[in-house]
Amino acid sequence: MIKQIALTFDDGPNTTVTPLVLDVLKQYGIVATFFLVGDNINEQSSLSARRAVEQGCMIENHSATHSDMSKMSREEFIAELNRTDKLIEDICGRTPKFFRPPYIAVSAEMYDYTDKTFICGLGADDWDDAVSVSQRTDRILEQLSDGVIILLHDSKDNFKTVEALKRIIPEALSRGYEFLTVEGLFAAKNITPQKGVLYSNVLA
Ligand SMILES: [Zn+2]
Repeated sequence: MIKQIALTFDDGPNTTVTPLVLDVLKQYGIVATFFLVGDNINEQSSLSARRAVEQGCMIENHSATHSDMSKMSREEFIAELNRTDKLIEDICGRTPKFFRPPYIAVSAEMYDYTDKTFICGLGADDWDDAVSVSQRTDRILEQLSDGVIILLHDSKDNFKTVEALKRIIPEALSRGYEFLTVEGLFAAKNITPQKGVLYSNVLA
């Protein structure tokens, strides 16, 4: 059976690292999913998000203000999601189906506030500049298995993750992995996303 995974990137879009990530994806002919922060979407950065969509990537919702949403009221929570949904709809005409909670902070109530599917993922602490390119690469590669969602960051200064990607992607391809969007991964595995689940592997 073919092994399939989803690469995901949080905290964009921007005009520095997002385009470099897209260059690497394009070089290897693969797609990924970008979880956008509404506050980071402006006239310039939206061009990076638009380019992602043009390359076959998908853009999803990572809140508007990148706050801990587990402490928000229903109204505050919905306002956050709606604001970023609208910005993403303006870019690509599609309403996000997936949500990554900032800091992976979740409460039981949050699942009742939205029909979006909650996504976590397996990461490499790549928000921490002290984690080297080699450490990022090794941590991701050792976590690879069929159905996994990989969590990385295309934050505006995160050039180390761009370098790590140049090692991770060819190695994963050589191990026989196919890269899909998060939505594509659920579809390929014939999994219907469930409410109340925080997915890091669609098969788990
Ligand atoms: Zn984030």
